[in-house]
Amino acid sequence: MGTVAVYDADYSSAAEVIEKAFSDFGVNLENKNVVIKPNVIGPFGVSRAITTHPSVVAGVVKAVAARRPARIVVGDNPGVRGYGLNKTSAQRSGLLDVCSDYYVNLSEEGVSAPMKSRFTDKVTISRTFLETDFYISIPKFKTHMLTHITGAIKNSFGMLVGGQKTAIHRLAQSCETFSEALVDIYQLRAPDLVVMDAVIGMEGKGPSSEDLREIGKIIVSDNGVELDAVMAVMMGMDPVRVPMLQLAQERGLGRISLGSIKTVGPIAQIENFKLPSKMMRGPVGFILWHLLTHLMTSRPVPIEDKCSKCGICEQHCPVGAIQLKPYPTVNPERCISCFCCMELCPNSALDVTNKVKRYRGRFKY
Ligand code: SF4
Ligand code: SF4
Repeated sequence: MGTVAVYDADYSSAAEVIEKAFSDFGVNLENKNVVIKPNVIGPFGVSRAITTHPSVVAGVVKAVAARRPARIVVGDNPGVRGYGLNKTSAQRSGLLDVCSDYYVNLSEEGVSAPMKSRFTDKVTISRTFLETDFYISIPKFKTHMLTHITGAIKNSFGMLVGGQKTAIHRLAQSCETFSEALVDIYQLRAPDLVVMDAVIGMEGKGPSSEDLREIGKIIVSDNGVELDAVMAVMMGMDPVRVPMLQLAQERGLGRISLGSIKTVGPIAQIENFKLPSKMMRGPVGFILWHLLTHLMTSRPVPIEDKCSKCGICEQHCPVGAIQLKPYPTVNPERCISCFCCMELCPNSALDVTNKVKRYRGRFKY
């Protein structure tokens, strides 16, 4: 269906590598309206490596501009509701430094659109994604505690405006249901091209942990599902065991077994890559994962010496599970383990615990 190309890269060579990729993929943008969507999940600085690196965004913008499009829009809907944080997030992630002429606050242009889904029949999406001629997604190479991976499919979640995203988290709370909702959203408007920032990736407790990993790649594809499957293989996961990928394949959106994907460049499993803590591979582990969900369901807990008591986590928890007293306390009966709070905490002041760890007395709510 598509091609996945893996290029060696660092941030200083990103623009050159991306130009070569555009040329390899024969990207023609003349007189087209183009939207470029990095992964800007919140007000995080570049050094955290949670968001798409600005040099990758700059490289994509440069390659697009060279192809004489009618219009370029760069933006994202971080997990926030207002203009202030959208622009602040763009600023802190370095986006405004490299493409302020093209930045648009996508949170301000939400429109209601029908969606084929068992969770809801309509969503609020930024209009640009529905109207664009060419959509370029620029996700990060990251793990995810709930969905196993963060990649092209997950990056599509940011087509929805902030408040809509929290509603989806409420409607689809498990790994399987949230993965299904993400595929529903991805299908609203699949990207035409995906350029993944895999120069510095994230392992372990993604999507916003401090476990960074130098990978030294930029991965490009005209099929987001197939790119995500290649990323999963590089992480050491079997794509078939990632519910989001399995469902996407069932719906005919892409192939997920490495042997059936057309690839260019060397694809190797990264040595000793740390998987998210809920990941249990193999058929027995997969069954156990379901049986042990109750015991292993993870919840956030504050790290008090890092917490500034800013209240961002309390403000944005989609189910009102957090109260500041004066540090955040999480109501385990309400928490749906969406990890929005971890994504949004500006100080990495939230860790993860589960019933097993609590019984051992490592953490208290
Ligand atoms: S945990 Fe993070 S987001 Fe929540 S109050 Fe503390 S610093 Fe703010
Ligand atoms: S406490 Fe955090 S993980 Fe739990 S529901 Fe609220 S935002 Fe999601």
